[in-house]
Amino acid sequence: MTIAIIGAGLAGASAAAELRDRGHEGDIVLVGAESQAPYERPPLSKDILLGKGTAADAAVKDQGWYDEQRIELVTGARVQSVDTAARSFEVDGRTITYDQLLLATGATSRHLPMADESGVPVAYLRTLEESQALKEHLAGHLLIIGAGWIGLEVASAARQAGGTVTVVESASLPLVGPIGEDMARVFADLHREHGVDLHLDTSLTTLERDEGGVLRRDAGASKGGARALLSDGTEVRPGLVLVAIGAEPDTALAETAGLDVDRGVLVDARLRTSDPHIWAAGDIAVHDHPDLGRLRVEHWDTAIQQGRHAARSMLGDATPYTRQPYFFTDQYDLGMEYVGHLGRDGYDEIVVRGDHATRVLNAVMIAGGRVVAGMHTNDWDATDHLRAWVGREATDRLRDTTIALADTRED
Ligand SMILES: Cc1cc2nc3c(=O)[nH]c(=O)nc-3n(C[C@H](O)[C@H](O)[C@H](O)COP(=O)(O)OP(=O)(O)OC[C@H]3O[C@@H](n4cnc5c(N)ncnc54)[C@H](O)[C@@H]3O)c2cc1C
Repeated sequence: MTIAIIGAGLAGASAAAELRDRGHEGDIVLVGAESQAPYERPPLSKDILLGKGTAADAAVKDQGWYDEQRIELVTGARVQSVDTAARSFEVDGRTITYDQLLLATGATSRHLPMADESGVPVAYLRTLEESQALKEHLAGHLLIIGAGWIGLEVASAARQAGGTVTVVESASLPLVGPIGEDMARVFADLHREHGVDLHLDTSLTTLERDEGGVLRRDAGASKGGARALLSDGTEVRPGLVLVAIGAEPDTALAETAGLDVDRGVLVDARLRTSDPHIWAAGDIAVHDHPDLGRLRVEHWDTAIQQGRHAARSMLGDATPYTRQPYFFTDQYDLGMEYVGHLGRDGYDEIVVRGDHATRVLNAVMIAGGRVVAGMHTNDWDATDHLRAWVGREATDRLRDTTIALADTRED
């Protein structure tokens, strides 16, 4: 049996590894559009920018591992179409026929046309090359559009590199959608304390070249900086503008293959698409989660776990994927982990334990009496307890902040 995987990112590589771990002896072909072997993206906005990690550190597996495991890795090859009737696709002029196919084509940065068309130096951050290029500009004046995870992590790296950082965010607080107001305030304070000029409830109204600017002297073709006007009246003259306004699932291939797509590739509880021989995992998959409903999750852990799960499903396992989303971030000296999912309605109760001054905190978010999510900042023992609570009815002990989180469960 030949199993093909299109998309050689974390989900694709995790699936390939799991296939061998589960004893699949047949051929495995892993095809990726990027020139590198699969790598992890979290270091692109953290260790690589901070100069603490290299491209080699970010690799999912050593180069030799693919040969040892008899996994054919084809890099630098973007698959254009899949013939679902013949169960085949073309790569580098060669036809690959599959029994099962996993699509793990991930996501790409969401673009801001106004920035792209402005003629000023604009950066995005999704790939290793983009991270390496961005690192060279951290010490200048960086204007970051979007105070999401990536925008804030880059802000942190840039401040640590001695750069001047302006962040523009249209919401009232950074990260307010995924973590809610109470904990979002922790991040707003953190960045302001570290000298980030954070403009909330604000948008970019004008972006144009500043021919007189001297900031991007090293930028070769693109000399001069930018002049940006914000909706709150502020004028900024950055050397580089980083657009960090989210990602879009890369559904191009799934669409040409005729699969059901709705802001991602629709998959059932086992990660199977509308074609019985095609599966999807990671950033691209809109999963039918048995507890959470339709959900697309753009997280490192989901790419690994769904990649592995899809591998087991392709080998015949009928178990649904039920894992709760998990996410982490590192900014300055603050580490955060988050488990669960705040639906559109958010939470109606939050129980916070810990100390705002030291930012050693944990928070449990409750909607309709049920714990929907939990997170901590620098409270590393909390994760397992938070995970155990997600999905359960909240109790009086959980709400009683005089009782330590670890002692709240009665089972
Ligand atoms: C800068 C950055 C920092 C992040 N930090 C965190 C973090 O701290 N914590 C966290 O939980 N998550 C983080 N994430 C998110 C996490 O990295 C993603 O959820 C994860 O990479 C998704 O993996 P994937 O394999 O689904 O997709 P991707 O990593 O996007 O990989 C998909 C691959 O498929 C390739 N491809 C697409 N179309 C084709 C085609 N037609 N043919 C061949 N190949 C194709 C793409 O080129 C790409 O290489 C971060 C993401 C970024 C960008």
